[in-house]
Amino acid sequence: MTSILGIGECMIELSSEGRDLWRQKFSGDVFNSLWYARAHSLNDTEIGFHTAVGTDPMSDQLLSFVQSCGIRCDDTPRIADRRPGLYTIHLHGAERSFTYWRDTSAARMMVRQPGSLWRKVAAADVIYFSGITLAILPQEDLEDLLVGLEQHKKDGAVLAFDPNIRPHLWQDKNRMLDVITRAATQSDLVLPSFDDEATAFGDATPEISARRYANLGVDHVVVKNGASDTIHLQAGQMTAFPVAPVEGVVDTTAAGDSFNGAYIASLLRGLSIKDAIRTAQNCAGQVIRHKGAIVPLKELAPDA
Ligand code: ADP
Repeated sequence: MTSILGIGECMIELSSEGRDLWRQKFSGDVFNSLWYARAHSLNDTEIGFHTAVGTDPMSDQLLSFVQSCGIRCDDTPRIADRRPGLYTIHLHGAERSFTYWRDTSAARMMVRQPGSLWRKVAAADVIYFSGITLAILPQEDLEDLLVGLEQHKKDGAVLAFDPNIRPHLWQDKNRMLDVITRAATQSDLVLPSFDDEATAFGDATPEISARRYANLGVDHVVVKNGASDTIHLQAGQMTAFPVAPVEGVVDTTAAGDSFNGAYIASLLRGLSIKDAIRTAQNCAGQVIRHKGAIVPLKELAPDA
């Protein structure tokens, strides 16, 4: 039995289906990755999600949905005066715009009752979190999380981190860069997307992003770069893996999230780096041919 624990936020998603008609789903970067990890895992892999929700009916529905995806979320802290974050997607032709209501979401309190969190961290083989997880936490909770991960993870556990840099979620750019760098430094696997890294850190190439993280002591770095080569760097060995062309891209939401989930699950299944990257690229390539972050399993073709 192996296990993956994701730590982050899952929000209510409302996408416009007409003038006053909305389709409701649930989504969030870490949760999305867990969904694709589940899709690429054998049944003997346990996938868990740590977040926080409220005590309202939408919170109940969110947890039921997570469970129905085969992702454990028992012991989720319930914050009585908080509710799940929410965002809307408006379509303007093929363009999508997002509006968020997450400033006071329950998920921001996910480190406040840490007993269950540390129990889950101590049991996990892979612990996965992101720069968005960190951006939404109050400052002292963020410190508690980084220290607690270090203290409670078991020997040999892999700490996997996607910087997922969203400058609008941070009040101070220098603090954002400092926190992302600290979180990466204590991680074993870092999975950045080059666009974000270029904007935030000024990296000229994905190879420079990979080396910047490796120079912090990170063992294993994978830099995603849209349709361009995926850069893999481990033990000083840098390899570029070309991405197969994808026809009919309709929505790139969750490309990176799905890549991460499929990659981590594939490594846990014992696939080689080359096969894990190919599986992850293939998964992300299918996700961007569908609308929305979560593509139903029956629409995900088996690996080529
Ligand atoms: P993010 O969603 O985090 O910005 P990327 O845009 O780099 O991440 O995409 C993640 C992965 O999705 C890429 O490594 C690639 O495998 C796949 N991908 C994204 N865009 C395309 C594209 N236009 N064609 C083919 N694959 C793509």
